[in-house]
Amino acid sequence: MLLVENLAVDYGAIQALKGIHVEVFEGEIVSLVGSNGAGKTTFLRTISGLIKQKSGKIFFAKNNITGLATHEIVKLGISQSPEGRMVFPDMSVKENLIMGCYSFSFSKAEIQSNIDRMVAWFPRLGERMNQKAVLLSGGEQQMLAIARALMAKPKLLLLDEPSLGIAPLVVQQIFKIIVELNREGMTILLAEQNARLALKISHRAYVLELGTIIKKGEASSLLHDKDVQRAYLGG
Ligand code: ATP
Repeated sequence: MLLVENLAVDYGAIQALKGIHVEVFEGEIVSLVGSNGAGKTTFLRTISGLIKQKSGKIFFAKNNITGLATHEIVKLGISQSPEGRMVFPDMSVKENLIMGCYSFSFSKAEIQSNIDRMVAWFPRLGERMNQKAVLLSGGEQQMLAIARALMAKPKLLLLDEPSLGIAPLVVQQIFKIIVELNREGMTILLAEQNARLALKISHRAYVLELGTIIKKGEASSLLHDKDVQRAYLGG
């Protein structure tokens, strides 16, 4: 479904991604694990067309999407829940959700049925529909960011650090929903610093270090890999 070939991204003199290959097949949860600054966010933002690559190619559903504008990429079926949530603080939950399908000319009825679908996934958002997003807890904002991305009815959902700064119990709830979304057919690419959490729910994973993929494979094997355990799973 997604094929990234030899992707390199620089920020001036900093080489954030040094020519990496990543593939995601339909129906998978694939995670990208690695510490702070490894290049995970840069990778997801480049796929979404928010950062321009220095070299490399990105294919989605056999289309070459390299260099396309973000709204075109969203229309083709990739949407992203960004790191740090980035909800629109002064807009209500409902308005934030509607922004998620801004690039589409959905009818009012389609938008409403989409919102109803989100409330079924995230009942908490239903209870807070008319509140400003700024008043939500961190966990609720994370749910909103994911739901906003889902409003575009993506084929591939990109999730950047959904566990960041959220209470462990709520993280468990969110990861359970991620697994359920995948069971219902959503393909997911997940960037996570919390390697244990990510590997537990993923089919396959890539380990990113200083802009290079140092390991890849079945998530269950990486969970038992001695180097991964030492570096990312606390020994
Ligand atoms: P985090 O989880 O902290 O976001 P990450 O794995 O997502 O980490 P990136 O944010 O992609 O990593 O950063 C990769 C490298 O690029 C780091 O060295 C970072 O300092 C650098 N970098 C990221 N954004 C910029 C920017 N806008 N300008 C300059 N350097 C940047």
